[in-house]
Amino acid sequence: MVVVMNPGAPPEHLAAVVARIESAGAQAFVSRGMDRTIVGVIGEGSRMAELTLAGMPGVATVLRVTEPYKLVNRQARTERSVVWVGSGGREVPVGPGTFTLIAGPCAVESAAQTLGAARLAAGAGATLLRGGAYKPRTFPAGFQGLGKDGLRILADVREATGLHVVTEVIDPADVDLVASYADMLQIGAANMQNYPLLDSVGRQDKPVLLKRGLQASVDEWLMAAEYLAQRGNCEIVLCERGIRTFETATSATLDLASIPLVQRLSHLPVVVDPTHAAGRRDLIVPLARAAIAAGADGLLIDVHPDPENALVDGAQALAGAELRELATAVRRLPPMLGRRAA
Ligand code: PEP
Repeated sequence: MVVVMNPGAPPEHLAAVVARIESAGAQAFVSRGMDRTIVGVIGEGSRMAELTLAGMPGVATVLRVTEPYKLVNRQARTERSVVWVGSGGREVPVGPGTFTLIAGPCAVESAAQTLGAARLAAGAGATLLRGGAYKPRTFPAGFQGLGKDGLRILADVREATGLHVVTEVIDPADVDLVASYADMLQIGAANMQNYPLLDSVGRQDKPVLLKRGLQASVDEWLMAAEYLAQRGNCEIVLCERGIRTFETATSATLDLASIPLVQRLSHLPVVVDPTHAAGRRDLIVPLARAAIAAGADGLLIDVHPDPENALVDGAQALAGAELRELATAVRRLPPMLGRRAA
């Protein structure tokens, strides 16, 4: 960390800054320039963050020179991680070298609809089944999910199809219940910075799919992952799902640059959800192709056996011709980039 003092900051302000740094057990290196004095700080990062040097008299700015996330940082583990999902000797890898398709209905509506969607997903090459039993909705009157009944349906469909279940948890109080049915817990975009939820999910041992918040910078997303890791759960897959920009023609703007960027900054796998970024069926396959080309470790795609009558987000669910196109892209493109199907 580097503290830049204001031009002409009096010596007592500098002395107070140095004293505060040293009182935290860190070292302060003062360097006096023509106009400004800067103080280099060497010490343990999380304690440095508590120093609140930025508000002290005479301080112009405080600059970080290392990332605040440590456990998920690529520097902590130079090899990229593989996260395994499922159990019973049929675990599915998510990470480098492989390509994983996670697909299924946006919401679990009924046993028949979920089984139908799961069969479509498996036919397209999916090994992980997504489906929401708890649906956080923008509109309070919208379908909120079947709750525990939805979890039971997902478990039955896993039994029938062999697909492992990825499902969202939205309430810290439900984490144990959802983890008892799911193979992987999803934290949705709206909850990326729900710290009680991160705390609770970080203390259980199922792998986690952490979606990027709509307003989250890459650093904030990785800090949310660090939260989980610090609670003991480092089995995290990041999911880029688009961020809010001035563009309103799509639900969100898919940040393709975040894929290689995050793979440089962190060892965690990164999958991409073009469905919730586009919000419209016709853009999903082109965005999926772009995500594969940019190096994504997998895709998360909504499929539905009857999109026209879906209770949630039917306009973005794939079926028919578009799903066949997606299946072709998932079969052909990853091997060209040295990845095999997971
Ligand atoms: C979802 O995947 O079901 C979902 C609602 O996505 P997000 O949290 O990215 O909006």
